[in-house]
Amino acid sequence: MATANLTLPAEFSGKAQFTLYARYDDPRLPGWENKWIISWKVQQLHPWFPVKEMKIHKHFWPQLQDAFFALEKTGLYTEIKTFHRCHELIQLPDSPVLSTHSWGAAIDLNPIDNPMGSQGAWSEDFIKLMARNGVFCGQSWTGNKEPMHFAMVDG
Ligand SMILES: [Zn+2]
Repeated sequence: MATANLTLPAEFSGKAQFTLYARYDDPRLPGWENKWIISWKVQQLHPWFPVKEMKIHKHFWPQLQDAFFALEKTGLYTEIKTFHRCHELIQLPDSPVLSTHSWGAAIDLNPIDNPMGSQGAWSEDFIKLMARNGVFCGQSWTGNKEPMHFAMVDG
């Protein structure tokens, strides 16, 4: 019988968290950051991006980069105004569960226009293009929406 869940620490009890934990282990482990996190000099290829550099998971980076190229082709990149965070070791509000940001697998953009629980301000085209590149927006969630949030895992 499936008893494995009983031993799963609360920190990884979300669907997205469990996926990331199964693939990449516990992001709080010593040496984890050196193994998985890279520093992306974003503006070298995407001069419109609001910050020069961000720390990001090495497997999320190529997906986000492809999404950015697609945004440039379509002109949709102009919807990105501000960067809030990417890799940061944090928990969900009032919860022991680690945020997917802890793995560097999520990025928060335009937080002022897209507060937690709001419908979000991204165009449908923007959300669809990101999703086609494997970058999923919290604006599409059915529960409590987090439209500033884009991640390499859905949910
Ligand atoms: Zn986020």
